[in-house]
Amino acid sequence: MAVEDFIVTLLGTGVPSPTLDRFGASALVQAGPETLLFDCGRGALQRIYQLNVSFQDARLLFLTHLHTDHSTGIPDLWLTPPVFASRGFGRSDALQVYGPVGTNHMIHHLKEAYTADKTAMTSADFINKTGYQMEPMEFAEGDAYERNGVTVSAFLVDHVNISPAYGFRVEYDGRVAVISGDTTYSENLIKHSEGADLLIHEVAMAPENLRDLPEYVEEVLGWHTTPEQAAKIFVKAKPKLAVYTHLALFLGVTEEELIARTTKTYKGALEVGYDLARFEVGRDQPG
Ligand SMILES: [Zn+2]
Ligand SMILES: [Zn+2]
Repeated sequence: MAVEDFIVTLLGTGVPSPTLDRFGASALVQAGPETLLFDCGRGALQRIYQLNVSFQDARLLFLTHLHTDHSTGIPDLWLTPPVFASRGFGRSDALQVYGPVGTNHMIHHLKEAYTADKTAMTSADFINKTGYQMEPMEFAEGDAYERNGVTVSAFLVDHVNISPAYGFRVEYDGRVAVISGDTTYSENLIKHSEGADLLIHEVAMAPENLRDLPEYVEEVLGWHTTPEQAAKIFVKAKPKLAVYTHLALFLGVTEEELIARTTKTYKGALEVGYDLARFEVGRDQPG
Protein backbone atom coordinates (compact mmCIF):
# COMPACT_ATOMS: atom_id res chain seq x y z
CA MET A 1 0.00 0.00 0.00
CA ALA A 2 1.39 3.36 -1.01
CA VAL A 3 0.69 6.29 1.29
CA GLU A 4 -1.71 7.90 -1.20
CA ASP A 5 -3.66 4.69 -1.83
CA PHE A 6 -7.37 4.86 -1.07
CA ILE A 7 -8.98 1.65 -2.21
CA VAL A 8 -12.43 0.20 -1.67
CA THR A 9 -12.86 -3.52 -2.33
CA LEU A 10 -16.31 -5.05 -2.21
CA LEU A 11 -15.98 -8.29 -0.23
CA GLY A 12 -19.64 -9.25 -0.51
CA THR A 13 -22.32 -7.71 -2.71
CA GLY A 14 -25.17 -10.08 -1.92
CA VAL A 15 -28.28 -10.23 0.19
CA PRO A 16 -29.43 -12.96 2.59
CA SER A 17 -29.53 -15.66 -0.17
CA PRO A 18 -26.58 -18.00 0.50
CA THR A 19 -25.24 -17.86 -3.06
CA LEU A 20 -21.65 -18.58 -4.00
CA ASP A 21 -21.22 -15.69 -6.41
CA ARG A 22 -22.31 -12.91 -4.07
CA PHE A 23 -21.27 -13.26 -0.44
CA GLY A 24 -22.87 -11.32 2.46
CA ALA A 25 -22.59 -7.56 2.73
CA SER A 26 -19.06 -6.37 3.46
CA ALA A 27 -16.56 -3.86 2.11
CA LEU A 28 -12.87 -3.36 2.80
CA VAL A 29 -11.41 0.14 2.75
CA GLN A 30 -7.65 0.58 2.61
CA ALA A 31 -6.69 4.21 3.13
CA GLY A 32 -2.95 4.79 3.47
CA PRO A 33 -1.92 2.97 6.65
CA GLU A 34 -5.49 2.21 7.76
CA THR A 35 -7.53 -0.90 6.95
CA LEU A 36 -11.24 -0.67 7.74
CA LEU A 37 -14.03 -3.17 7.33
CA PHE A 38 -17.62 -2.11 6.80
CA ASP A 39 -20.16 -4.77 7.71
CA CYS A 40 -19.34 -8.43 8.08
CA GLY A 41 -21.80 -10.61 6.20
CA ARG A 42 -21.36 -14.26 5.37
CA GLY A 43 -17.94 -15.08 3.94
CA ALA A 44 -16.20 -11.78 4.74
CA LEU A 45 -13.17 -13.52 6.29
CA GLN A 46 -12.87 -15.83 3.29
CA ARG A 47 -12.77 -12.83 0.96
CA ILE A 48 -10.12 -11.15 3.18
CA TYR A 49 -8.06 -14.35 2.95
CA GLN A 50 -8.62 -14.52 -0.80
CA LEU A 51 -7.29 -10.96 -1.12
CA ASN A 52 -4.23 -11.90 0.92
CA VAL A 53 -4.96 -9.07 3.35
CA SER A 54 -3.35 -9.78 6.70
CA PHE A 55 -5.79 -10.86 9.42
CA GLN A 56 -3.81 -8.59 11.74
CA ASP A 57 -4.75 -5.60 9.58
CA ALA A 58 -8.45 -6.54 9.44
CA ARG A 59 -9.20 -5.73 13.06
CA LEU A 60 -11.40 -2.67 12.81
CA LEU A 61 -15.03 -3.27 11.90
CA PHE A 62 -17.83 -0.74 11.43
CA LEU A 63 -21.44 -1.96 11.35
CA THR A 64 -24.11 -0.04 9.45
CA HIS A 65 -26.94 -1.84 11.27
CA LEU A 66 -27.59 -5.10 13.05
CA HIS A 67 -29.41 -7.17 10.43
CA THR A 68 -28.02 -10.69 10.14
CA ASP A 69 -26.90 -10.39 6.52
CA HIS A 70 -24.41 -7.74 7.70
CA SER A 71 -23.25 -9.51 10.83
CA THR A 72 -23.22 -13.31 10.52
CA GLY A 73 -19.54 -13.17 9.54
CA ILE A 74 -18.56 -11.65 12.91
CA PRO A 75 -17.89 -14.91 14.83
CA ASP A 76 -15.58 -16.03 12.00
CA LEU A 77 -13.73 -12.69 11.86
CA TRP A 78 -13.42 -12.70 15.64
CA LEU A 79 -12.49 -16.32 16.38
CA THR A 80 -10.55 -17.66 13.41
CA PRO A 81 -7.63 -15.16 13.06
CA PRO A 82 -6.18 -15.68 16.60
CA VAL A 83 -5.81 -19.39 15.79
CA PHE A 84 -3.27 -18.48 13.10
CA ALA A 85 -1.30 -15.82 15.01
CA SER A 86 1.64 -18.12 15.73
CA ARG A 87 1.87 -18.98 12.03
CA GLY A 88 2.38 -15.37 11.02
CA PHE A 89 -0.93 -14.50 9.42
CA GLY A 90 -3.30 -14.35 12.37
CA ARG A 91 -4.47 -11.51 14.58
CA SER A 92 -2.71 -10.70 17.82
CA ASP A 93 -4.79 -7.63 18.74
CA ALA A 94 -8.41 -7.42 19.78
CA LEU A 95 -11.10 -7.07 17.14
CA GLN A 96 -12.70 -3.63 17.49
CA VAL A 97 -16.36 -3.42 16.55
CA TYR A 98 -18.00 0.00 16.09
CA GLY A 99 -21.74 -0.23 15.65
CA PRO A 100 -25.11 1.33 16.39
CA VAL A 101 -26.90 1.02 19.71
CA GLY A 102 -27.46 -2.69 20.33
CA THR A 103 -23.89 -3.59 19.34
CA ASN A 104 -22.71 -3.88 22.96
CA HIS A 105 -25.57 -6.29 23.66
CA MET A 106 -24.89 -8.37 20.57
CA ILE A 107 -21.14 -8.64 21.20
CA HIS A 108 -21.66 -9.45 24.89
CA HIS A 109 -23.97 -12.31 24.01
CA LEU A 110 -21.77 -13.57 21.18
CA LYS A 111 -19.01 -13.90 23.77
CA GLU A 112 -21.41 -15.75 26.07
CA ALA A 113 -22.43 -18.03 23.22
CA TYR A 114 -18.81 -19.04 22.55
CA THR A 115 -17.78 -19.58 26.17
CA ALA A 116 -17.01 -23.26 25.64
CA ASP A 117 -14.80 -22.51 22.67
CA LYS A 118 -13.01 -19.75 24.52
CA THR A 119 -12.29 -21.97 27.54
CA ALA A 120 -10.96 -24.69 25.27
CA MET A 121 -9.05 -22.66 22.73
CA THR A 122 -7.40 -20.15 25.02
CA SER A 123 -5.90 -23.05 26.97
CA ALA A 124 -3.85 -23.87 23.86
CA ASP A 125 -0.41 -22.22 23.84
CA PHE A 126 -0.41 -21.40 20.12
CA ILE A 127 -3.59 -19.32 20.24
CA ASN A 128 -3.16 -15.61 20.71
CA LYS A 129 -5.07 -14.55 23.83
CA THR A 130 -5.21 -10.86 22.95
CA GLY A 131 -6.36 -11.68 19.44
CA TYR A 132 -9.19 -13.65 20.98
CA GLN A 133 -10.63 -10.46 22.46
CA MET A 134 -13.39 -8.39 20.89
CA GLU A 135 -14.19 -4.84 21.96
CA PRO A 136 -17.51 -3.23 21.01
CA MET A 137 -18.11 0.51 20.84
CA GLU A 138 -21.42 2.17 20.05
CA PHE A 139 -21.67 5.38 18.03
CA ALA A 140 -24.39 7.85 17.06
CA GLU A 141 -24.83 10.23 14.14
CA GLY A 142 -22.08 12.79 13.95
CA ASP A 143 -19.54 10.64 15.76
CA ALA A 144 -16.32 10.32 13.85
CA TYR A 145 -13.38 7.95 13.96
CA GLU A 146 -10.12 9.64 13.07
CA ARG A 147 -6.68 8.13 12.74
CA ASN A 148 -3.67 8.64 10.47
CA GLY A 149 -5.52 11.15 8.30
CA VAL A 150 -8.54 8.88 7.80
CA THR A 151 -11.94 10.09 8.98
CA VAL A 152 -15.02 7.89 9.17
CA SER A 153 -18.28 9.62 10.04
CA ALA A 154 -21.65 7.98 10.53
CA PHE A 155 -24.93 9.43 9.27
CA LEU A 156 -28.47 8.15 9.74
CA VAL A 157 -30.28 6.50 6.88
CA ASP A 158 -33.82 5.10 6.74
CA HIS A 159 -33.95 1.30 6.56
CA VAL A 160 -37.59 1.18 7.78
CA ASN A 161 -37.41 -2.34 9.28
CA ILE A 162 -34.63 -1.61 11.79
CA SER A 163 -33.46 1.56 13.50
CA PRO A 164 -30.97 3.05 13.80
CA ALA A 165 -29.28 2.29 10.50
CA TYR A 166 -26.27 4.24 9.31
CA GLY A 167 -24.27 5.04 6.25
CA PHE A 168 -20.60 5.99 6.41
CA ARG A 169 -18.56 8.76 4.85
CA VAL A 170 -14.84 7.94 4.64
CA GLU A 171 -12.39 10.73 3.89
CA TYR A 172 -8.70 10.42 3.13
CA ASP A 173 -6.18 12.46 1.16
CA GLY A 174 -8.86 14.97 0.09
CA ARG A 175 -11.00 12.20 -1.37
CA VAL A 176 -14.35 10.81 -0.25
CA ALA A 177 -16.02 7.40 -0.37
CA VAL A 178 -19.57 6.93 0.90
CA ILE A 179 -21.17 3.62 1.85
CA SER A 180 -24.97 3.72 2.02
CA GLY A 181 -25.59 0.73 4.24
CA ASP A 182 -29.16 -0.50 3.84
CA THR A 183 -31.69 2.25 3.26
CA THR A 184 -34.64 3.39 1.30
CA TYR A 185 -34.42 6.81 -0.40
CA SER A 186 -32.60 9.06 2.06
CA GLU A 187 -32.18 12.84 1.84
CA ASN A 188 -29.69 12.59 4.70
CA LEU A 189 -27.55 10.28 2.59
CA ILE A 190 -27.61 12.82 -0.25
CA LYS A 191 -26.53 15.52 2.18
CA HIS A 192 -23.62 13.45 3.49
CA SER A 193 -22.56 12.36 0.01
CA GLU A 194 -21.62 15.87 -1.03
CA GLY A 195 -18.39 15.83 -3.00
CA ALA A 196 -18.19 12.02 -3.00
CA ASP A 197 -15.72 10.53 -5.41
CA LEU A 198 -17.26 7.10 -4.90
CA LEU A 199 -20.78 6.31 -3.73
CA ILE A 200 -21.39 2.65 -2.93
CA HIS A 201 -25.17 2.26 -2.78
CA GLU A 202 -27.56 -0.59 -2.14
CA VAL A 203 -30.45 -1.39 -4.48
CA ALA A 204 -33.54 -3.58 -4.69
CA MET A 205 -35.64 -4.24 -7.74
CA ALA A 206 -38.54 -6.31 -9.03
CA PRO A 207 -40.04 -6.51 -12.53
CA GLU A 208 -41.78 -3.28 -13.53
CA ASN A 209 -44.66 -4.88 -15.36
CA LEU A 210 -45.92 -7.23 -12.64
CA ARG A 211 -49.29 -6.03 -11.37
CA ASP A 212 -49.27 -8.07 -8.16
CA LEU A 213 -45.92 -8.59 -6.52
CA PRO A 214 -45.65 -11.30 -3.84
CA GLU A 215 -46.18 -9.77 -0.41
CA TYR A 216 -42.62 -10.43 0.77
CA VAL A 217 -41.22 -8.60 -2.27
CA GLU A 218 -43.47 -5.58 -1.69
CA GLU A 219 -42.41 -5.50 1.94
CA VAL A 220 -38.68 -5.85 1.32
CA LEU A 221 -38.72 -3.30 -1.51
CA GLY A 222 -40.08 -0.81 1.02
CA TRP A 223 -36.95 -1.20 3.13
CA HIS A 224 -34.56 -0.60 0.25
CA THR A 225 -33.85 1.72 -2.69
CA THR A 226 -35.35 1.12 -6.12
CA PRO A 227 -33.27 1.92 -9.24
CA GLU A 228 -35.46 4.97 -9.88
CA GLN A 229 -34.88 6.23 -6.32
CA ALA A 230 -31.15 5.51 -6.64
CA ALA A 231 -31.04 7.46 -9.90
CA LYS A 232 -32.62 10.43 -8.12
CA ILE A 233 -30.03 10.13 -5.34
CA PHE A 234 -27.14 9.96 -7.83
CA VAL A 235 -28.48 12.96 -9.79
CA LYS A 236 -28.63 15.02 -6.59
CA ALA A 237 -25.43 13.75 -4.95
CA LYS A 238 -23.35 13.82 -8.17
CA PRO A 239 -20.71 11.26 -7.18
CA LYS A 240 -17.83 10.83 -9.61
CA LEU A 241 -18.73 7.16 -9.67
CA ALA A 242 -21.81 5.36 -8.34
CA VAL A 243 -21.54 1.63 -7.63
CA TYR A 244 -24.35 -0.72 -6.78
CA THR A 245 -23.93 -3.28 -4.04
CA HIS A 246 -26.28 -5.42 -1.92
CA LEU A 247 -28.14 -6.44 -5.07
CA ALA A 248 -31.65 -7.57 -4.19
CA LEU A 249 -32.88 -8.55 -7.65
CA PHE A 250 -36.26 -10.23 -7.31
CA LEU A 251 -38.20 -12.51 -9.63
CA GLY A 252 -35.59 -12.84 -12.36
CA VAL A 253 -34.77 -9.18 -13.06
CA THR A 254 -31.32 -8.77 -14.60
CA GLU A 255 -28.39 -6.43 -14.09
CA GLU A 256 -29.04 -5.07 -17.59
CA GLU A 257 -32.55 -4.03 -16.51
CA LEU A 258 -31.07 -2.50 -13.37
CA ILE A 259 -28.71 -0.35 -15.42
CA ALA A 260 -31.44 0.55 -17.94
CA ARG A 261 -33.85 1.68 -15.23
CA THR A 262 -31.15 3.73 -13.48
CA THR A 263 -29.76 5.44 -16.56
CA LYS A 264 -33.18 6.63 -17.73
CA THR A 265 -32.60 9.64 -15.53
CA TYR A 266 -29.02 9.32 -14.26
CA LYS A 267 -26.38 9.89 -16.91
CA GLY A 268 -23.24 9.78 -14.76
CA ALA A 269 -20.74 6.98 -14.23
CA LEU A 270 -22.31 3.80 -12.85
CA GLU A 271 -21.05 0.29 -12.14
CA VAL A 272 -22.80 -2.80 -10.87
CA GLY A 273 -20.56 -4.09 -8.10
CA TYR A 274 -19.42 -7.69 -7.80
CA ASP A 275 -17.48 -9.56 -5.14
CA LEU A 276 -13.83 -8.44 -5.08
CA ALA A 277 -14.46 -5.45 -7.37
CA ARG A 278 -11.79 -2.93 -6.47
CA PHE A 279 -12.10 0.84 -6.76
CA GLU A 280 -9.39 3.45 -6.38
CA VAL A 281 -11.32 6.32 -4.83
CA GLY A 282 -11.16 9.38 -7.06
CA ARG A 283 -9.57 7.39 -9.85
CA ASP A 284 -12.85 5.88 -10.85
CA GLN A 285 -12.34 2.69 -12.77
CA PRO A 286 -12.94 -0.76 -11.26
CA GLY A 287 -9.92 -3.05 -11.33
ZN1 LIG B 1 -30.66 -4.55 6.41
ZN1 LIG C 1 -28.84 -6.10 4.11
